[in-house]
Amino acid sequence: MIPINRPWIDNEEKQEIIKVIDENALTSAARDGGKRVQDFESSLRRFLNVKHVVAVNSGTAALHAALLALDIKTDDEVLLPSFTFVATANAVVASGAKPVFVDINTKDYTIDLHDLKKKISRKSKAIIPVHLYGHPADLTELNEIANQHSLYIIEDACQSLGSTYKNKQTGTFGTMGCFSMYASKVLTAGEGGAIVTNEDKIADTLKMIRNHGMVEGYDTRVLGLNYRLPELSAAIAKIQMKKLKTILDLRRRNSLLLSNLLETIIKKYNIQIPQEDQIKKFNWYLYTLAFNGSDDLTLRDHIKKKLIENGIGVAVYYDPPVHKTPFYQKFSSLNDDLQNTNWSSEHVLSFPVHPGVSEIDIQNIVNVLEKELQNII
Ligand SMILES: *Cc1c(COP(=O)(O)O)cnc(C)c1O
Repeated sequence: MIPINRPWIDNEEKQEIIKVIDENALTSAARDGGKRVQDFESSLRRFLNVKHVVAVNSGTAALHAALLALDIKTDDEVLLPSFTFVATANAVVASGAKPVFVDINTKDYTIDLHDLKKKISRKSKAIIPVHLYGHPADLTELNEIANQHSLYIIEDACQSLGSTYKNKQTGTFGTMGCFSMYASKVLTAGEGGAIVTNEDKIADTLKMIRNHGMVEGYDTRVLGLNYRLPELSAAIAKIQMKKLKTILDLRRRNSLLLSNLLETIIKKYNIQIPQEDQIKKFNWYLYTLAFNGSDDLTLRDHIKKKLIENGIGVAVYYDPPVHKTPFYQKFSSLNDDLQNTNWSSEHVLSFPVHPGVSEIDIQNIVNVLEKELQNII
């Protein structure tokens, strides 16, 4: 089975973990974190060309810490897409604020600017654009809208490490950007996350929040939690940074090959494939198709089943969308006519393009897909 994603860990990560154990340095509650936390932070800082990186223990923690750092709380509203992993919304609810769900565009599945403008209210405090599948949201326009309405932007870049917008790394456009190092992400530590910012004061606050709001000793000054990244995880993340460029190159190679081979069948079966343009360059975290042609809602699920039977680990991100989950239905309002979100959740399917996928695998994926489409249509 080719899984949809798989961490690429080898001997160098192993050796670094052994060093952590030999040094008996499993974690550090110092304000600046342990040695490997700091090494990882420097390395990510250089890659992103950003002033500050604060490593934490998950992408969820990164999002929650970012909201706390802006003092977002009860009675505030935060605008975000419903077409995302639920962590984005959970972080908002954990802060006490109300999530306001915004529709997406069906071109690249990122936040829809028209719907966003309609949903801004006097209570709005922040926008969380999600660079879903590694597709950058429309950051120039988002910045303009945020400026006009005095809103913060917190980028959910958990899926977009290495994606760029106008040649600048995603995650570095907003007041803060949040990254995840969960096992399935482009760069992994098993679990882990990071917040990046160019503002000194915010970086300072984030370091407090990561460590119970403390600065020197037991002197809690703001609400914080234990969001520290353990050294064992930081050790993996630090070594992974060395191969980030190779990881991105292999994902790109696989994705461009997949696009080339799909060329002949996308017109015939009315399939939409992901497409970069001059402004948006992808990290190719997920290669996501949409079966455009058919109103038959069983088509996508049927193809998914057949591909999995053939050892190809395709997956749907996300069905249901957040606003249709049992917990979030209670946040719904009349406003929640998220047509493109609903359509996308019923038509998209993501394909594996991670570094463990070979060019022969890609060829095989296309052959199986074409055969199954011929059988149905
Ligand atoms: C993975 C992910 C998160 C959460 O990150 P964790 O490290 O799993 O907590 C948040 N948002 C998006 C879009 C993600 O893909």
